[in-house]
Amino acid sequence: MSDFRLYNTLSRQVEPFAPADGTTVRMYTCGPTVYNPAHLGNFRTFLFEDLMRRVLALRGWTVRQVMNLTDVDDKIIKRALEQGKTISEVTEPVIVVFHRDREYLRIQAAEAYPRATDFIPQMIALVERLVSRGVAYQADDGSVYFAISRFPAYGRLSRLDTREIKAGARVLQDDYTKENAQDFALWKAAKPEDEATGAAWDSPWGRGRPGWHLECSAMAMDLLGETLDLHCGGIDLIFPHHEDEIAQSEAATGVPFARVWSHGAFLLTEGAKMAKRVGNVSTVQGLREARFSAAALRHFVFNTHYRKELNLSEEALEASRQAVRRVGDFAGRLRSDTALALGGTPELARVAEAAVVRAEAALFDDLNGPEALAALFDFIRQANAELDRRGGDRGSVERARAAFDRIDSILDIVPEREEADSAFAEWIEERIEARRVARGARDFAAADGIRGELTARGVTIEDSGGETRWKLG
Ligand SMILES: [Zn+2]
Repeated sequence: MSDFRLYNTLSRQVEPFAPADGTTVRMYTCGPTVYNPAHLGNFRTFLFEDLMRRVLALRGWTVRQVMNLTDVDDKIIKRALEQGKTISEVTEPVIVVFHRDREYLRIQAAEAYPRATDFIPQMIALVERLVSRGVAYQADDGSVYFAISRFPAYGRLSRLDTREIKAGARVLQDDYTKENAQDFALWKAAKPEDEATGAAWDSPWGRGRPGWHLECSAMAMDLLGETLDLHCGGIDLIFPHHEDEIAQSEAATGVPFARVWSHGAFLLTEGAKMAKRVGNVSTVQGLREARFSAAALRHFVFNTHYRKELNLSEEALEASRQAVRRVGDFAGRLRSDTALALGGTPELARVAEAAVVRAEAALFDDLNGPEALAALFDFIRQANAELDRRGGDRGSVERARAAFDRIDSILDIVPEREEADSAFAEWIEERIEARRVARGARDFAAADGIRGELTARGVTIEDSGGETRWKLG
């Protein structure tokens, strides 16, 4: 089996990757803050992580992916206060929308979706460890902070010089209770609005709530162990979020928090020119309303390498819609009984094997989506030409099917509608042919029966000049 290589943000290099135990990849992915439906930019990251988990599985490893749901934070509390609700009343419906959107985009479910509010005891225990090790302190405002000056490795992931951090922070300093302006909150002392919205818990430092960074460390270590194989997220999370996750985890355990850090680049939606017909496509709901299929969005996202910025535009989405239509048509043809009956050629089997080898090599080389797609589209072009030859070999068609299914099990870009449409069209053609044969044999009862079948499914047929045409409705 091929090697698997991945770009590691820690080393700034593409490196060979394998899980520490050789079998299971323990993967943590920062999830959404559930106060608003996630933006398409968030979903680009989640699609990159979906590609990651599918490729890891293809490589033969078991994947244990954890994605947190941040269900307590400033924005959620503000919203709850405005609406006279508790934080869970605000977050519950948004979590439902998140999973609906995720399923629409065919993003495979992670093995766990822990909610921050279900892990308060683990978070408190982590803060206690940090306080007892002398790297965290309770300030006059009642909150507990992490002292970055007592963690020398701070800044290693983002490669920020600590002097730079301090210089930048001095300007922004507005909080004089901290020892250092850049120290970040592990535990925030409760304010009246926290109490009013159900966002405060008892702790050794009084009533309060967890800081955002703390959540991820506590949940990741509780569910996956102290050293993860892989930690993923959007590139915007490198600093300070991931830097802080590393600091508070490693200061507590003394072992590396994640062996490899992997970050997906931005989806640029600002300035995206969308026609009125399409409207504002910034959410999955908007995408659905503009009738862009999951297949089209997946193609659009995977057609740019995950480490490159991607611009959302109507032209690009349209191009992806056209591209996946070709995939759907091909899938319909390849999976049809007709294709099997007419058979393929030895060359069809050969191009099928070559496509799998090329697509896997691309995906195992730092998730090269564009190259895997190129392998698929070259295969479709070659396979269509070979199927046109009607080589009579069923085996080669079966091998082409297996190759297509293997590649598409990763990309998952067969559009549902089009697939159904082309299968339906093929069924219609097949029935019309059966009717022609029946009429030729003067079996008019059978011919009429077939017309009835077609009518029942909304197909109107018309005979003229020895040919039969059909239309829907
Ligand atoms: Zn996180």
